[in-house]
Amino acid sequence: MQLTYTPQQQAFRAEVRAWLAHNMPREPLASYDTREGFEQHRAWEARLFESRWSMVMWPAELGGRGCDLIEWLIFEEEYYGAGAPMRVNQNGQLLLGPTLMEFGTPEQKRRFLPRMAASLDMWAQGWSEPNAGSDMAAITSKALLDGDHYVINGQKTWSTRATFADWLFGLFRSEPGSARHHGLSFLMVPLNAPGVTIRPIKALNGKDAFAEVFFDDVRVPVANRIGAEGQGWHVAMATAGFERGLLLRSPARFQHTARKLVQLFKASPHSAARDPGLGDAVIDCWMGAEAYALSAYHTVGRLGRGEQIGAESSINKIIWSELDLKMHETAMRLLGARGELLAGARQAEDAAGWLEGFLFAQSGPIYAGTNEIQRNIIAERMLGLPK
Ligand SMILES: Cc1cc2nc3c(=O)[nH]c(=O)nc-3n(C[C@H](O)[C@H](O)[C@H](O)COP(=O)(O)OP(=O)(O)OC[C@H]3O[C@@H](n4cnc5c(N)ncnc54)[C@H](O)[C@@H]3O)c2cc1C
Repeated sequence: MQLTYTPQQQAFRAEVRAWLAHNMPREPLASYDTREGFEQHRAWEARLFESRWSMVMWPAELGGRGCDLIEWLIFEEEYYGAGAPMRVNQNGQLLLGPTLMEFGTPEQKRRFLPRMAASLDMWAQGWSEPNAGSDMAAITSKALLDGDHYVINGQKTWSTRATFADWLFGLFRSEPGSARHHGLSFLMVPLNAPGVTIRPIKALNGKDAFAEVFFDDVRVPVANRIGAEGQGWHVAMATAGFERGLLLRSPARFQHTARKLVQLFKASPHSAARDPGLGDAVIDCWMGAEAYALSAYHTVGRLGRGEQIGAESSINKIIWSELDLKMHETAMRLLGARGELLAGARQAEDAAGWLEGFLFAQSGPIYAGTNEIQRNIIAERMLGLPK
């Protein structure tokens, strides 16, 4: 493992840093879980796209720079290090994008990927149903063939930012009478299609970007199917691997939080004196973020030698979600009563940001497959333990 950067990589880092220094929004954007913030983030991502910084690993013809994984890690370090806005089109760019690259037709790639990279199309993920969460093979929403269209009926739930999104990708039962992971198809559905009803769900942070999505005789062209008819499970498992693997949560995001936590510790001498364990907790968090970053570089090195990630993406998912929780819990301990202040309250300052992050961190062990399920995967597929 080479722990130094080449001159080209250093030049790339300098280029990213300079661009961000000139182009970052002057004021923080509103939360992307509000309509206003969602559109502000869309505009920011269009700007990233114009300068080919939106999807640096995508090929030039799709608006990217053809970067390798090391350059992507460098980009992310600079992006989060600069405090740039969180990425709003993650479902599209980080989950559906790689899925289309692997399974999409040339026409689908041309049609969807550049618009996705520019955030002209924002994507929601439609897998979970009221009775199909961890057990996703229990999906009952149907998509029945009628000529060159599917007719969709059913319901999806817990769909992140579906309240504002333009499109949804999801799994639907396309073979009547099929069971479990057989007979499912992976479809892309425009959320403005007749028969789609979006019902927002208020989240812990009081915002209603999360939604249930209902389908009543929604017609979707067969051309919107990714992969073969009835093979949706296979495609979706690849998408799930992208979600838990490296891309969704780059280490830089957590290193940035860890650095902010160290600053908060330094600015909170009274809390540190009151609770001597806090110093150790902060150090633990900082080391956890550094360890995750080093393990990411290690994984990237292995991928570069042609190895695969596979079931160890489940380890990744547990590491980042539990680390995020621990960092925000530690911040709450440092902030004491101030941690309860909402944005706009007197003396809230940085506390409201920590509270927002603390509330979101609660969901880390649930979304992208719960951590209990990830532990089952590790036990069975990596350790060979019995079911
Ligand atoms: C912030 C957030 C964003 C989300 N975004 C999306 C989205 O965009 N699109 C989407 O489709 N879904 C989304 N989800 C839904 C998420 O994928 C599900 O919540 C998750 O898969 C768990 O399903 P469930 O809620 O039905 O819980 P259940 O599956 O009912 O699980 C309940 C509990 O039982 C445990 N459990 C279940 N089965 C087992 C088992 N075999 N062994 C051990 N323990 C088990 C679980 O770990 C959990 O603790 C999101 C969820 C959150 C919190």
